[in-house]
Amino acid sequence: MSFDTGTPDDTANQPTLDPKDWAAFRASAHHLLDACLDRLTSAGEHPWQPVPQDVRDSYRLSEDGADATDLASTLRDQIMPYATGNTHPRFFGWVHGTGVVEGLMSEMVAATMNANCGGRDHGSVYVEREVIDWARRQMGLPSSASGVLVTGTSQATVIALSTARHKVLGADVRRVGNSDHKLTVYASTQVHASTQNALEIMGIGAEGLRLLPSGADGLDVSAMRAQIAEDRANGCVPFAIVGTSGSVDFGTFDDLTALADLARDEDLWLHVDGAFGAWTRLAEDPWRALTDGIDRADSIACDFHKWMFVPYDCGLVLIRDEADHRATFANRPAYLSSMENGLAGGDPWFCDYGTDLSRGNRALKAWCTIRAHGAKGLGTAITANCRQAALMGQLVETEDKMALVAPVVSNLCVFTADATLSATEQSALNTRIAQDLQMRGLAVFSTTTAQTPDGEDVTCLRAAITNHRTQAEDIEIAVQSVADCRDAKL
Ligand SMILES: *Cc1c(COP(=O)(O)O)cnc(C)c1O
Repeated sequence: MSFDTGTPDDTANQPTLDPKDWAAFRASAHHLLDACLDRLTSAGEHPWQPVPQDVRDSYRLSEDGADATDLASTLRDQIMPYATGNTHPRFFGWVHGTGVVEGLMSEMVAATMNANCGGRDHGSVYVEREVIDWARRQMGLPSSASGVLVTGTSQATVIALSTARHKVLGADVRRVGNSDHKLTVYASTQVHASTQNALEIMGIGAEGLRLLPSGADGLDVSAMRAQIAEDRANGCVPFAIVGTSGSVDFGTFDDLTALADLARDEDLWLHVDGAFGAWTRLAEDPWRALTDGIDRADSIACDFHKWMFVPYDCGLVLIRDEADHRATFANRPAYLSSMENGLAGGDPWFCDYGTDLSRGNRALKAWCTIRAHGAKGLGTAITANCRQAALMGQLVETEDKMALVAPVVSNLCVFTADATLSATEQSALNTRIAQDLQMRGLAVFSTTTAQTPDGEDVTCLRAAITNHRTQAEDIEIAVQSVADCRDAKL
């Protein structure tokens, strides 16, 4: 078979995808940068807003390209205004990070460099190593630890629990899987859904997850000990304990020291889901003490994009023993061999520590954030958020009808707008208030379900404060808005 490759003339001066008019591109990029800065300097004026249908229609892609000037104004007018609103000082929904302005610079440079951080010898790889090492030191893990930046804690959990499984079953698990073993993992009822997801995709299944009762002080460790003994007696293979540092519903923390003792006694892997809460390590006491014992974990999953304020997405997994980590994932075919010198140097490669081969430059935005604010500045913001949650709790308690449904232990405050109503009426009211305040751009609360003393489910308002722009006044306005919305009976 032969191909018509044309004449040399046909391939000369091939158009690239770069701009035809660099001067025009430069001018529109400068304008767009100014528009981004305008948006960031007025973050308090930009709450979430719904995307109008005509704007959504304008997102439809066609067969033809459009010029860069048009792209810049489209980005400014059609895209940028319709954000999640988590850059706003009264955004307390779910657990969304606020972002920092350093993200603007780092993302611009990262896009310019377009580095593939799966491995090889280039600057971004060294930057990522420093970010991981910095986080390792904050958590108190030994220098033998390794880590990798990932999309988020969900992915970090898969990597951590896979490493734990490899430790228990040995290298064979990579060849034959784990279907001969009934593997079990132990966590609190407050554990995040990502742990169950991880077990499902690992082929262990949700039934391998044992959930132990949990209260404001975290899970019941003696109940866990008893469950492990019962499972062993029944032929199960317990392999990991998952401690939660900061539960999504109420911001509670398991006692990591007690869990580390249990893991040692039972020869189990201790994994900590510290998606946001692990960063209380940078806070002042009493909040810092919530993660005492985290330095004894075998693995930690956490996010830079939540309470470290780094722009999405940026999660981290740390593994106590680099050898375990690498043995679980490394698998390089011939075309990916490393060399001593040149671009294929730079061992170890990040692709050996997770499921991704091609990887974006998540490290630079984290590095810039840490470089700009340090552990001290970030810790101060984290401490402030905990104080603000406590303030919100006090305001709720002093208000006539509102009531907390759980104690405030960290940065979460969960309450009902009117505790004098029935559970059903409260649920309807709290749901209405959450939506109404979002639609009016006043404040973003999300909701969760809590139990009344009689064991009835109630949908409650929930604030998770991971927002460095929030001030005490925003807390007051937000609580007042809840009261106003309730009393207006809209
Ligand atoms: C957000 C969260 C997760 C999931 O993390 P992602 O970064 O969203 O993947 C897991 N656990 C807890 C406690 C969380 O708050």
